[in-house]
Amino acid sequence: MIATLLVGMLCVYLLSFTVMFLLISRRLQDENMGMDVFGVGNLMLGGAYVLQLLEGAPGWSWLSMLNHTLTLCSLLAYCVGGARFFGRSTPLAVPLLCLAVGYSLVQILVNWAFGPVARYVMLAGVCAVSFVAMVAMLLYGVRSFAKDLRGEVLLFAGLISGICVLNVIKLSKLLSGGFEAVSNDGRFSMVFYVYMCSLATILPPSIVWLVLRRLTDSLRTVAARDPLTHLLNRRGLSTALDACFRRPGTTARLLLVDLDHFKNINDSYGHHVGDEVLCGVADALRASVRKDDLVCRLGGEEFAVICVGADDASVMRLAERVRSSIEQKVMLQGALYAQLRCTVTIGVSDSFGSEAALGQAMQQADAALYRGKHTGRNRVEHNQGPNRRNAVLDTVH
Ligand code: GH3
Ligand code: MG
Ligand code: MG
Repeated sequence: MIATLLVGMLCVYLLSFTVMFLLISRRLQDENMGMDVFGVGNLMLGGAYVLQLLEGAPGWSWLSMLNHTLTLCSLLAYCVGGARFFGRSTPLAVPLLCLAVGYSLVQILVNWAFGPVARYVMLAGVCAVSFVAMVAMLLYGVRSFAKDLRGEVLLFAGLISGICVLNVIKLSKLLSGGFEAVSNDGRFSMVFYVYMCSLATILPPSIVWLVLRRLTDSLRTVAARDPLTHLLNRRGLSTALDACFRRPGTTARLLLVDLDHFKNINDSYGHHVGDEVLCGVADALRASVRKDDLVCRLGGEEFAVICVGADDASVMRLAERVRSSIEQKVMLQGALYAQLRCTVTIGVSDSFGSEAALGQAMQQADAALYRGKHTGRNRVEHNQGPNRRNAVLDTVH
């Protein structure tokens, strides 16, 4: 009686989360992270338990055969859902169909050759092996494709190991005592269904949580990055600077990098070529700066580099390295672009020590940049406020 109640609860859990998964999948449209497949998996497992309630005592029946096939197919669907969550485009329909037809035929054969208990033994064995494979895949994932979800993936691996052990026990009980040993009123069945209910309570919300994590992470990235160059945007720069200045005693200097006569490139070759040049400049900036420096596209053809912990001389060396790297590396190949080279003018600020002081550093770097533009472009200029000594420049030129 209690086991029947538990199976009924399992059906309700599984089928209501089927609806939830399918709704989430519809909402996410093309990038649904495998939610539709998890929905299909839940529907099949829920359907299998409904059949179990209908079929009565264990033994051979077409309902029971369909129940076992759906159970196994649901495991395949969960695996495919997991693969799709991690970005693989694993197929579902054909493998599912092959498994359904193949396993149904094998069941008929096994039942005919070895009797009904053997069919149940086979399901427990195949499930146990599938769970071992799932756990192995999850443990491999913790070190590779699922590094960012370590805690959650280890939790899944632990829970699946539990159901794997229960299937092995079920298999050995069936082998030693037949259906009597796993009857619905026995203690083992109770433990089995309580565990399954716990899984059905924990796993689906955990999957929804994973989707939420992925979505919020990608929202944060979209909000903090420039879509063309994938560099930080202004908002991303502010957040990164805040984090950077949380380390006591940290100072930084700002390089304001502006492309020279960029409008001419757009006018002569078109906006799409201009975009290519902007991406080339972004790549050159990324390659020139040091690990802890921050690179940002402020907008249009203006970029900012925050040099963390650099002194006057090293920041000027870095600025010069950036300038010459862009001059040498950013060019478009092909006859049409034979003349197309790109240069930048760079304004450098004084040192500053907080995110709030970024505005003042911008003004200093902008003034230096303005001077650079008016003294010939393709050069580096340092801020020359009232308190500055020109000795800084002498250390570089
Ligand atoms: P200067 O040497 O004085 O800086 O001259 P400039 O032509 O580089 O500067 P100006 O401010 O006159 O022109 C900037 C141009 O950048 C104008 C605008 O069309 C172009 N631009 C801004 N954003 C983008 C973008 O995302 N893609 C492309 N292709 N062009 C852009
Ligand atoms: Mg410009
Ligand atoms: Mg500009």
